[in-house]
Amino acid sequence: PYTGPRAADIIHKRKEYLSPSMFYFYEKPLNVVEGKKQYLFDENGRRYLDAFGGIATVCCGHCHPEVVEAIMTQTNRLQHSTVVYLNHAIADFAEALASKLPGDLKVAFFTNSGTEANELAMMIARLYTGCHDIISLRNAYHGNAAGTMGATAQSNWKFNVIQSGVHHALNPDQYRGVFGSDGEKYAKDVQDLIEYGTCGRVAAFISEAIQGVGGILELAPGYLPAAYKSIKKAGGLCIADEVQAGFARTGSHFWGFEAHGVVPDIVTMAKGIGNGLPIGAVVTTPEIAQVLTQRSYFNTFGGNPVCTAGALAVLKVIEKEKLQENAFLVGSHLKERLQSLMEKHEIIGDVRGRGLMLGVELVTDRVLKTPAKAETLHVMEQMKEMGVLVGKGGFYGNVFRITPPLCFTKADADFLVDAMDYTMSKM
Ligand code: PMP
Repeated sequence: PYTGPRAADIIHKRKEYLSPSMFYFYEKPLNVVEGKKQYLFDENGRRYLDAFGGIATVCCGHCHPEVVEAIMTQTNRLQHSTVVYLNHAIADFAEALASKLPGDLKVAFFTNSGTEANELAMMIARLYTGCHDIISLRNAYHGNAAGTMGATAQSNWKFNVIQSGVHHALNPDQYRGVFGSDGEKYAKDVQDLIEYGTCGRVAAFISEAIQGVGGILELAPGYLPAAYKSIKKAGGLCIADEVQAGFARTGSHFWGFEAHGVVPDIVTMAKGIGNGLPIGAVVTTPEIAQVLTQRSYFNTFGGNPVCTAGALAVLKVIEKEKLQENAFLVGSHLKERLQSLMEKHEIIGDVRGRGLMLGVELVTDRVLKTPAKAETLHVMEQMKEMGVLVGKGGFYGNVFRITPPLCFTKADADFLVDAMDYTMSKM
């Protein structure tokens, strides 16, 4: 049994010694002391079904033995910065990663986070094109450093960042957007931004395939091909932010963009790539990657041996355990069951997403789509009491984000839906 510090002690220390900006879920925040597969355990040994997966981070399950083994072996052998020497771990992982990407996307630069990956991707695009303007989508989240905070488009995640050269296009939001599911109509806004907001040439377009922080919003079909076409015509590069939707999560495909039939020029990733290890990556073509040789570019811990050895093990586990297939099968079942809950509970305005990246949006009025923020919090608290952890997001804070480890089972899915159903019935 766990004998370490209790929740109250940790809260006390956090108040005293940690940034007041740090927030947590739940009225009685959870002291998570252990994880195994799709489960988390609290200080009392109580087991929770983890349907948030550390914000879509854990793909092969908590503390997967083969990933742990790879990390331990490499830690015992060597852990340092790989920047100025050779080590096989980084090269082996880069090779394996390239095999998962389409076209000529095969050159990687490793970072420590999604923010760093997107910052680098945007810089590469600006260097390659010689242009500065970047188009991102409203409601997007791309990171919290200067450039990526500029590309992020939700006021609650932005400080007074200088909006240098970023234009935010109409979000192809199939639930609240003015054009419904007509992707091409939304894409016209990208063309308009190029024509009226720039000199006619741009550096890049960056978007998620399914907005995660934004509330599991899948871009309207037809949007990405049309937007990419406008960007290419304007000389820009297309960046796919796969930080959440990548790594087999969407089930039907390994990468989120693949469901839209496009091939980006640059793909950024983090979270799932390391199953919890701090690693991110920018993958692009050899030709585009060349721009970084103009100067010295350096990232002390990017691609260090421990993180890349761990990430290689993650890729192997995804394949060996057929986790993409599982995400598809279990995700489809879960989505169907959540959709059937809509018939019973008026409060569910929308169920959406792909594979094990699903969203449930709560509204007090289905016609007006009034966000049911308080009710979302209530259901989330009650589900936790029943042993199920889901995430929350969306601009109004009224969307459940269901992004469990990809080893989630049908029985887990049923338990989650039953807990949600029970709570909503009691409301
Ligand atoms: N892009 C997306 C789509 C994200 O969801 C996030 C994190 N929520 C980031 C980028 C930034 O990643 P990190 O927190 O690792 O910097």
